[in-house]
Amino acid sequence: MITSAGMSEPAPMMPPMPKPESEATPCHSAELLLHLARLVHGGSADCSLTAVQWTALRYFASANRFSRTPSAFSEFNATTRGTASQTVKSLIGLGLLEKRAHESDGRSFLIELTDAGRSKLEHDPLADLIACIRELPPARRAAFRDTLGELAEQLSRKRAAPVFGKCGDCGHCDTSKPDSTFCRCTQLMLSGQDMSTLCIDFAPGANKR
Ligand code: SF4
Repeated sequence: MITSAGMSEPAPMMPPMPKPESEATPCHSAELLLHLARLVHGGSADCSLTAVQWTALRYFASANRFSRTPSAFSEFNATTRGTASQTVKSLIGLGLLEKRAHESDGRSFLIELTDAGRSKLEHDPLADLIACIRELPPARRAAFRDTLGELAEQLSRKRAAPVFGKCGDCGHCDTSKPDSTFCRCTQLMLSGQDMSTLCIDFAPGANKR
């Protein structure tokens, strides 16, 4: 620019352009997800259980009969079988979980919540986050769930880890018969309770009919 005195002025400095999200390090969305996870237990009123013990209690309350084992929990929690077994043992010691013989295979057992475990879950610190999510408008809540599901699927694939999900979205779920639902993976008929609980054998995007 030329001033009235005929001198040229330096061009005004432009603010730097923000980098696109894909180039930013670290990714803010990923950091926020971790921050949310830490907040769930960080300010909780009930500190009697560790974060992993709460996760285990929640898992065994919501997993189906094919998935209520320490090894399935180790996959769900992305930890070793030994660590998962220690967590389960500690909760059995606290009277919150118990071992029960498998109904169709007497040699194996399932992990179940005791009455005390169910009462404990009424004070689950995750409830505050659930309440926040439920305050979102339905369309944003649905989009959020779909996005998280997609991310979980992608990351599980990268880690060669199972994706946990429910029968209604599973490729093994055969609903071709009007009166019954069949699981092609376990070769068993599915009950209403099976349909509403988490499964380690869930197959996203497989051939559904
Ligand atoms: S249909 Fe899929 S989610 Fe349901 S029990 Fe079978 S494998 Fe698991």
